[in-house]
Amino acid sequence: MPNISSLSARQILDSRGNPTIEVDCELEDGSIGRGSVPSGVSAGVHEALELRDGDKSVYRGKGVLKAVENVEGTILDVLKGQPVADHRTIDQMMLDLDGTPNKANLGANAILGVSLAVSRARAASEGRPLWQSLADQYGQESPVTLPLPMAVLIEAGVHSDGGLAFQEFMVMPTGFASFSDGLRAVAEVFHVLNGLLKQGGHVTAVGVEGACAPRLSTADEAFGLLMQAIDGAGYSGKMKLALDAAASEFVNDDGTYALDGNTLSSEEMTAVYENLCRDYPLVSIEDSHGEEDWDGFVAMKKTLGDTVQLVGDDLLVTNVERIEKAKELDAANAVLIKVNQIGSVSETVDAILTTKEYRWNPVVSHRGGDTEDSFIADLAVALNAGQIKTGSVTRGERTAKYNQLIRIEDALGSQAQYQSEIQ
Ligand code: PGA
Ligand code: ZN
Repeated sequence: MPNISSLSARQILDSRGNPTIEVDCELEDGSIGRGSVPSGVSAGVHEALELRDGDKSVYRGKGVLKAVENVEGTILDVLKGQPVADHRTIDQMMLDLDGTPNKANLGANAILGVSLAVSRARAASEGRPLWQSLADQYGQESPVTLPLPMAVLIEAGVHSDGGLAFQEFMVMPTGFASFSDGLRAVAEVFHVLNGLLKQGGHVTAVGVEGACAPRLSTADEAFGLLMQAIDGAGYSGKMKLALDAAASEFVNDDGTYALDGNTLSSEEMTAVYENLCRDYPLVSIEDSHGEEDWDGFVAMKKTLGDTVQLVGDDLLVTNVERIEKAKELDAANAVLIKVNQIGSVSETVDAILTTKEYRWNPVVSHRGGDTEDSFIADLAVALNAGQIKTGSVTRGERTAKYNQLIRIEDALGSQAQYQSEIQ
């Protein structure tokens, strides 16, 4: 494997009009890999640190020039001449250089940008697709599973002006033989939903992840619309529903929850989800409670854990230590996997592997602010993750991931296996 010869970085725009870092890694054999870093809208407090410049006169304080400087300065000094054969070693060298538990010195965005670019440079040097190179690097055999999408069709919370507290109302195309058929069905349902909203006098503008963002007053209204749209598109029984409550965004300081005009206790929140699961084919609930409300998650697991996928996002932040804690407390059975929550590719892979070791489900995920980089599509296939959450079927940064999965399915041909169920 060739050595790293240069790293160059720059500030580009993410899908929300904020700057983010893009890194190019060049190897001595001339191969180049590029990676860009996503950014959360409803980020968890336990995530690794995203380094922002803070100069309010430039990009409203959100510039990432310090992270750019770290890549082209201290990180390059350490990594120049390093072989890309062992990606874990390269990540570890950056973690050692940073020396903090949350990447506060160099910035998780700087470290991740390099980590993504190095992965791609390695694949380019091998002349192999990224998903194959990643599978080989991380010891995974036969990466043939195309993930089941968890596709958002209505977004609210802090992702739109829709007014509801819950953030994402999603569909999962379970009744299909291939990824592309499942995705096609999601797109058809999206268009039917758009028509229903238009008829109902709603605005049909989209939220940050490309989903419809109508003004609604209850979660029942949102789920009712999804059921109607699924039916209208002719897919009754072939789609399940999923919810990301993102409850850290509406938990009050005293531990109660401000849910659509009502103040509810943690226990009452659990009862709300129980009722929703009774009324709809709701099979997955993410961040049902706030990121510090472990008791709420434990109660959810006891109440719904046998039948419903309970995903920790802000709760677990792709962090092996927090996933281990959730296992000890029995507080989840699935983990949302976001590369920038932890800030390097190898630690993201470790989070996926720990999740699988527990026989829990990893759900590889984009961020509210994202770029056209489709790395997570390859990652989901390489690690046989089984599920991906990457937004609606509109907006280029979302379709970039879906379209890459279509390409991988095409490349795998008859070997491709679509994960048509939550396992
Ligand atoms: P994000 O949230 O905007 O912080 O990426 C998405 C999610 O909560 O899953
Ligand atoms: Zn979430």
